[in-house]
Amino acid sequence: MTEKLFYADAYLRDAESVIRKVEVEDGKARILLEGTIFYPEGGGQPSDRGIIAGEGFRITVEKVEGKEEIWHGGRLEGRVPEPGESVRLFLDWKRRYENMKAHTGQHILSAVIKDLLDANTTGFQIFETYNKIEIDYPGELTWDTVLEVERRANEVVWRDLPVEVEVYGELPAELRKKLRKELSDKVKPPIRIVSIPGVDVIPCGGTHVRSTREVGVIKVVNFYRKSRKLWRIEFVCGNRALEYLDELLGDYWRSLDRMPNKNRPLTERVGELKAELETLKAQKDSLRRSLWDWKARALLETAEEIKGVRVVSYIEEAPLKDAQAFTVYLVDRNPNTVALVVGDNYAIFARNREAGRVSMRELLKDVLSTVGGGGGGSEVLARGGGFKVAPEEVLRLALEALKDRLGGTTSP
Ligand SMILES: [Zn+2]
Repeated sequence: MTEKLFYADAYLRDAESVIRKVEVEDGKARILLEGTIFYPEGGGQPSDRGIIAGEGFRITVEKVEGKEEIWHGGRLEGRVPEPGESVRLFLDWKRRYENMKAHTGQHILSAVIKDLLDANTTGFQIFETYNKIEIDYPGELTWDTVLEVERRANEVVWRDLPVEVEVYGELPAELRKKLRKELSDKVKPPIRIVSIPGVDVIPCGGTHVRSTREVGVIKVVNFYRKSRKLWRIEFVCGNRALEYLDELLGDYWRSLDRMPNKNRPLTERVGELKAELETLKAQKDSLRRSLWDWKARALLETAEEIKGVRVVSYIEEAPLKDAQAFTVYLVDRNPNTVALVVGDNYAIFARNREAGRVSMRELLKDVLSTVGGGGGGSEVLARGGGFKVAPEEVLRLALEALKDRLGGTTSP
């Protein structure tokens, strides 16, 4: 069993220890220590990082895990260490201290949420840049409620209350009644109770700051419904709160800087841009419609008359999606019209519903049997691509096939 020095003193940044076991593979080492200041991942708090240094070797600790036996994994430099050797442990204190602030901030936030909304915290996770909790609350959470929670939580922070830790073999009945959440059967003694007088009493295996003031600030940055009964609340504490807000503000100012009108607030500028975009879109649609009308008129003037059907055929330069939109527009508005349109590796065959009885799908099959590729469609619209020959050749073959089919259907 590894002695948990981080429980005796969460503020220990370095210590001495002795190696119990060593595993080395591909330049990575896993070390079991007699005692450790490295917190192993658990209860939403990530594992610590730091350095384990010995005579002639050094391990950059990246992952710490285990409950009774605590293993420290990371990159090994120098010779392979041996069991029984003495080592010095150095914690990445900046990171750990922020984790302690975040963890204590979570206790406060969860206590206020229990008090104000009678909602239990069912999940908690500390990330590199923010933290999240999950609360069991069937009602509708609003920004106003969340901000009230935040206001009360920060009052607790600024009251400079002690964060006390006591370990019990068996929990006294009096204390059990004060717990924020009923004790799960999974929790076996010794039971570590973390309390903030008058605010919160909860069993917890994490590391915390000594006073609520050290949390600095609790800022909720986002919340959303996760499922019918669960809400997620994202928040930041300590220096990470500053870093988070600096980044957010940076994004705000950079965005505002890129606006044609740089006056605050950003929401008004975004609203203006959106309105402008909608006007431009309406203008674009109307311009496109008149362009299509001219294009249709020009194409119909040069259309070929085959067995009483007007056939428009041409090579298109536009991409497939635009070409199809126009082709459908053309045949829908012009009775007795068939359009054969071939572009860069695509073909669109379309006809007015009343025009002839030739199936566009069958016509495409005729063409594909010679030029290869694939495609499909309906009686009135078919689309193909992946041809082995040039567009001009596809168009010529399509016209020929259409003539055959029209001839076939009209001759007795
Ligand atoms: Zn805790």
